[in-house]
Amino acid sequence: MEYDEKLQSEEKRKSICIQNAVKQGREMLLDLVFPRRCPVCGEIVIPKGEFICPSCVKKLSPVHQPVCLKCGKELESDRMEFCYDCTRHHRSFERNLALLNYNDTASRSMSAIKYKNKREYLDFYSEALWLRFGRQIHFWNPDFFVPVPIHPTRRKIRGFNQAEVLAEKLSEKSGIPVCGGALKRIRKTAPQKTLDSSARFHNLEQAFGPGSIPQGTKRVLLVDDIYTTGSTMEACTRILLKMGVEQVYGLTVCIGKN
Ligand SMILES: [Zn+2]
Ligand SMILES: [Zn+2]
Repeated sequence: MEYDEKLQSEEKRKSICIQNAVKQGREMLLDLVFPRRCPVCGEIVIPKGEFICPSCVKKLSPVHQPVCLKCGKELESDRMEFCYDCTRHHRSFERNLALLNYNDTASRSMSAIKYKNKREYLDFYSEALWLRFGRQIHFWNPDFFVPVPIHPTRRKIRGFNQAEVLAEKLSEKSGIPVCGGALKRIRKTAPQKTLDSSARFHNLEQAFGPGSIPQGTKRVLLVDDIYTTGSTMEACTRILLKMGVEQVYGLTVCIGKN
């Protein structure tokens, strides 16, 4: 990287960090007026200042080691390196990290974010992601966070894309910018649950298309709420690699069986 470019990107990171400090102050004030609600039970969080009720946090199931070295799913034995899915399917991304097992509690909370407009719950999830994986993210040193896009009509109805909100919150914490237009969702997909894994991939392969990304981008970190079969991450990664990105990493709040 040229010296000027390095200086510019350093300036950009600094300015994101300053904006973040201002925002945190504003959030503390807001918390006094509109107390924070728990992402699990939906009630006002006590004690004040916390992101989740102490009793509700126990209902979530954090991903424990050993994990699959590709998708980040929990493994049954530390003699395994990869999960069953990752040994059977080609993964073009370097590695995905996931925070929580997709149990009923996590599933209800994720659905509330998307279908009951509880985007405020993403404050907790982004904070937890950052506490758990911040060091690893800095080590990977991505040029951008890239949110997995949702279809524009879906975004219009929902008012936001949960992956984009997560990416923006992570950007505030890390100083790493978001490239929101790197990928496009060009087609809505049929419900994935009814399809087997190869049909899922074909269903998704045509759902995404290239957007635009600054020239010279080498590494990106894809952000999404849920990782199930890995088809979404694989489809997005292949497009990004075709666009000239060299390495794609992934970060998801939840990871499920199938
Ligand atoms: Zn609660
Ligand atoms: Zn895996």
